[in-house]
Amino acid sequence: MQLTNRAKKTDKRELNLMERSYLPVVAGGLGITIKHFFSKKVTIKYPEQKRYLGPVFRGHHILKRDDQGRERCTACGLCAVACPAEAISMVAAERVKGEEHLYREEKYAAVYEINMLRCIFCGLCEEACPKEAIYLRHDKFVPVFTERDGVVYGKDQLVEDMNERYTRDAWTKEEMSKIWDKLPVNKGVFNELD
Ligand code: SF4
Ligand code: SF4
Repeated sequence: MQLTNRAKKTDKRELNLMERSYLPVVAGGLGITIKHFFSKKVTIKYPEQKRYLGPVFRGHHILKRDDQGRERCTACGLCAVACPAEAISMVAAERVKGEEHLYREEKYAAVYEINMLRCIFCGLCEEACPKEAIYLRHDKFVPVFTERDGVVYGKDQLVEDMNERYTRDAWTKEEMSKIWDKLPVNKGVFNELD
């Protein structure tokens, strides 16, 4: 009894001379290779080239400054509480007179550290922050570690450089959802960053 139409009958006839030489199938295979040789490549030369992943990608953390260059973080600790990997630690300090140009709030993080070996890049620290101080960059990967030294990132690696300010197409979840369908990655197109 035939259950489906997927069964294929085996061709058991004798091969002719041309077929026995395998030249037609070899030429056909070569044709496919040549076609792919001239078609647009879908692979890139990573890590020299990187793809645009959209604002939703969660990469290297950054502690943002405000437009006047002052650190936004007020060392409230909410990011550390939200972090499921317990990767964040900080030491709070009080801003003294004359430091208003350095820190936006009266309290700031004298020490702020993220253990990158623990971090799972979930983005909960970004969501928990009431001061829009911490973000996970969409355009920068955390490098691969081969040694344990240097895996705890301090303020020197996290605080935003005012000469190279970080920006992206969307900051909030609402803004991201609005542009989600328009992202190149969702159209099957990948723009290269450099
Ligand atoms: S991304 Fe997630 S795991 Fe990493 S520091 Fe933030 S909350 Fe913790
Ligand atoms: S980054 Fe945000 S949540 Fe974390 S301590 Fe600073 S202000 Fe608070």
